[in-house]
This record gives sequence, structure tokens and C-alpha cells, in this order.
Amino acid sequence: MLRLAPILIAIAYGLVYWHFSAWRTARDLDRTSTPLADARLKAVTDRLARALDLPQIRVHVHESPVINGLAAPDGRIFLTRGFLDRYEAGQVSAEELASVIAHELGHVALGHTRRRMIDFSGQNAVRVVLTAVLGRLLPGIGLWLANILVGMLAAGLSRKDEYEADEYAAALLTKAGIGTAPQKALLQRLDTLTGARGAPPVWLASHPSTPDRVRAIEALESRWQ
Ligand SMILES: [Zn+2]
Repeated sequence: MLRLAPILIAIAYGLVYWHFSAWRTARDLDRTSTPLADARLKAVTDRLARALDLPQIRVHVHESPVINGLAAPDGRIFLTRGFLDRYEAGQVSAEELASVIAHELGHVALGHTRRRMIDFSGQNAVRVVLTAVLGRLLPGIGLWLANILVGMLAAGLSRKDEYEADEYAAALLTKAGIGTAPQKALLQRLDTLTGARGAPPVWLASHPSTPDRVRAIEALESRWQ
């Protein structure tokens, strides 16, 4: 039991931390967001809603200059102001934004947003155990090594989520009659749009590379045909 104590403490810490950050995130999002009201975008999200047998899909605007879509732990979908600015400037189409919304809907529908709580406390527990074991075997570099291993584990889990959300989005866009072309087109421009340069090494990146994501969607399409 005493040996398990540090693990239990780590799990408890992870849960408390997650609840606090989920609450803080929800509060920050409430304070900095408004419902999205754009007739052209609504026409496209209504097609997604019909494909899902839902009356409508509510999307919120998060006041942030970055280009991103996100799903809150409570299941709400957000697009950043930065993304909508690009849409209004004609650099991103309504169908391309719909592909982002579909991807975020995938994270919610597949339980990713809620499961991150478990991942987070799980990672903390693994970190504690690895640090104890590696710290004894390899004094000095044990902690460093434990952090790298946990980082790789977390990155692997979140890369898997991204592929699954892409797959959900591709299926939904196809069913809605929008098709996957806007999804692939946006992915191919995403690095340029967000100004991402010098991607991190593959084994530490939380997002798969865009060519890999486009290839995965194409592999799905050839399977669906
Ligand atoms: Zn994602």
C-alpha cells in the first residue's frame, strides 16, 4: 500500500488539476466567446446537422488571433477569431471551416475531450513510476528520460486522436455531400496559414504531419469506393 501511495497521489493530483483546468477553460471560453452568426457558414453547418439528424450545430467564436478550432471538455465547438478573419478575407472557404467544425465534432463524438482527463492522470502516474525506477537505475538522467518517454506516450495518444477525428470528419463531410476536397485543401494550406515552421520531431509532435493526414484521408476514400 505504501508503495502505491505516490501513484495514488499522482492520480488524485491529475484529477484535481484536470477539474480545475476544465473549469477555468470553460470560464475563460464563456468570457471570451460569442455564438457564431454567419448566414453562409450556417448554410454549410446545417448540411452537417442534417447528416447527423440534429436540428442545428452550434458554433462559438473564441476571441483569439490564432488560427484554430477547438472542442471544450463540455462538448462545445469553437472557432477562433483569427480563423474567421481569414474566412472573411476570402482566404478560407465556408466548406473548409465546416471541415474544421466536423473534425472538432469528431473529438467530442469519439469521447476524446473527456478521455483526456484519464490520459492526463495516467501520464502523471506513469511519470512518477518511471522517475522512481529510472532515477534509481540511471541517476542524473532518469528524470530527463522519464519526461521524454511520457512525452512520447502523450504525443502518440494525441496523434491517434487526430487521425480518428479526421476520419470522422471525412465520413461526415462525405455524408453531408460536401466531400473531403475542402478538408484536404485546408490541411495542405494549414502550415502556411498558421505560420508553422520547423515542425518538432515526429516522435514528440502531438499532431501528425499534414502530408500524413492527407494521405490517411485518401486511404479512407479508396477504401470507401
Ligand atoms: Zn484535433
